[in-house]
Amino acid sequence: MAEAQIPASQRRRCPWCGSEHTRLMLRGFTGPTDERDQYFTCRDCGMLTYEIVSKTARDMRFGQYRLGATFRDTARQTRYRIIRVLKVGNNEHLLYLKPLIRQDQPPADNSNE
Ligand SMILES: [Zn+2]
Repeated sequence: MAEAQIPASQRRRCPWCGSEHTRLMLRGFTGPTDERDQYFTCRDCGMLTYEIVSKTARDMRFGQYRLGATFRDTARQTRYRIIRVLKVGNNEHLLYLKPLIRQDQPPADNSNE
């Protein structure tokens, strides 16, 4: 399928650089993928942005993931606000995340470096 035919509901704008050249990886409810998290990647800045992260009940206890809390992606040094927590099944929780963009840093601008 050509990229122009991707429905608007599956298009994402990179929160870190504003690019729309992103690729959405849907959580694998059905089909060939068994991806547990849902995220999109940006072709321009290379960042990965989580939308939904799957956690076990054990993760939930130790990670202190609560509605309104901050979720840290330490690998990429990005932070998110947990905007929804959904329990699915006996041992799985879905964290719906919203990226936290640093307010004190203007969007990337190469002119001052
Ligand atoms: Zn980007």
